[in-house]
Amino acid sequence: MGSMTPFRRGTRGSAVVAAGHGSSVPSAPGVQDLARFGSDEPIDLPESNFPVPATLVRYTADMVVPCDGTGMVLAPGVLEVEGGRVVHVGRGPTGRPATEVRLDGVVLPGLVNVHAHTPMSLFRGSGEGLPLDRWLTEVLWPREAKLTSEDVYWGMVLGAAESLRFGVTTSCEMYFEEDAIADAVLATGGRAVVTPAILQFPDGEGGPSWAGRLEEVAEFHRRRNGDGGRIEVGFGPHAPYSVPPEVLTVIAALASDLGALVHLHAAETEAEVEQFVATHGRRVVHALADVGLLEGRLLAAHGVWLDDEEISLLAEAGAAVAHCPQSNAKLASGIAPLAGMLTAGVRVGLGTDGPASNNDLDLWKEMRLAASLARLRERDAGAVSAVAALDLATRAAGHALGRPELGSLYDGAAADFVLVDLDDPVFSPMSDPSDVVGHLVWSVQSRLVTDVWVGGRKVVAAGRCLTVDTDEARYEVGRRAARLAAD
Ligand SMILES: [Zn+2]
Repeated sequence: MGSMTPFRRGTRGSAVVAAGHGSSVPSAPGVQDLARFGSDEPIDLPESNFPVPATLVRYTADMVVPCDGTGMVLAPGVLEVEGGRVVHVGRGPTGRPATEVRLDGVVLPGLVNVHAHTPMSLFRGSGEGLPLDRWLTEVLWPREAKLTSEDVYWGMVLGAAESLRFGVTTSCEMYFEEDAIADAVLATGGRAVVTPAILQFPDGEGGPSWAGRLEEVAEFHRRRNGDGGRIEVGFGPHAPYSVPPEVLTVIAALASDLGALVHLHAAETEAEVEQFVATHGRRVVHALADVGLLEGRLLAAHGVWLDDEEISLLAEAGAAVAHCPQSNAKLASGIAPLAGMLTAGVRVGLGTDGPASNNDLDLWKEMRLAASLARLRERDAGAVSAVAALDLATRAAGHALGRPELGSLYDGAAADFVLVDLDDPVFSPMSDPSDVVGHLVWSVQSRLVTDVWVGGRKVVAAGRCLTVDTDEARYEVGRRAARLAAD
């Protein structure tokens, strides 16, 4: 790929604004500049980045869609928030004294992206049109070999700004330089399940041994799990074909002891499955069962080429699948058996995959594509309803992560919510409030998300991310992408 032209910026300073986070700066070489994050340099933003209100705040909106799985719509709707948690959802208020906030539009939970490699915003658009093997060997791996943790930090900051702008408040991340990812998530105001990638590159050079890497990840779990109330740490073995069974067995036991999520890729392409069966003499999910991974919290990304028996095994185990329709379509991997997985009772949530294979982090698009492809595959217009599609990006996604307090608004849930502007032609006509769910899935674009809160704290206002200087983040990613692409 040719070199890229970095964005120019007019101001200096940290892209992360008043994030209330100054600890956990990685000590690895090449990250000295991270100390700049405490910068006091003023940045022109439309509204200050205020802390979570400790007192009760009552939001009254034209509509609230709590995403309880039924498609229920409250019109008008009231959401009461205290200390970062939802304490009441209903058509009317409680009698408690509160700060009153009127919201014009429809409120729904923050979306949950269950499979992402967000720092790969550094590689967005690279190798367009190349087959996967050539893209990996000629484009991606040579660049990843040059990555510093500061590169990963900026890739994550930019991707987090994009995600928050789209109303995606939680992501499940698999990548390297996990401290930089956690730092970026805490600084930008979102939530993440960080599952450090466990993988060795084909040349076997430049990285720790399997045992060394497992110790690094276990140590990262001890140090950062629960950090800031917004980071959960899991394990991210890349895939059953790239991580040996004996290593997966150790990961299964380690994760089980810690109650941690194991997040891996599985059955993404037909060729991968054919080769796996030829090598290991069994299909992928059977191999996962053999190493003990079905006994703990498991999230398998893609699952495009699962057969009925594998789907039954996943359902019985309570395992989850991250369905990534845009990535699967762009890379021509296939159409996952979404309707079959849902019917069998597999927990499914939607993921974007990395920005290098999507190319954005827009979960609204995934919702629509998931329903479209499932209906095409089944040749049934009722195969995945609008209610089910919205569920895949919200409540069901939270459940796929084993985090039911995410993706749904109920008493005790996390106060992660978004406001969508109803004052747009795509919401007309609306003969009944229940029409709003179909409009949200089939007509809304992410640009209609105007405001976003995470844990009761406002992170996007009037379509602008309050926690990130987006121009600075674009500049940093642009110049770093150019360096990584250079020979
Ligand atoms: Zn992936």
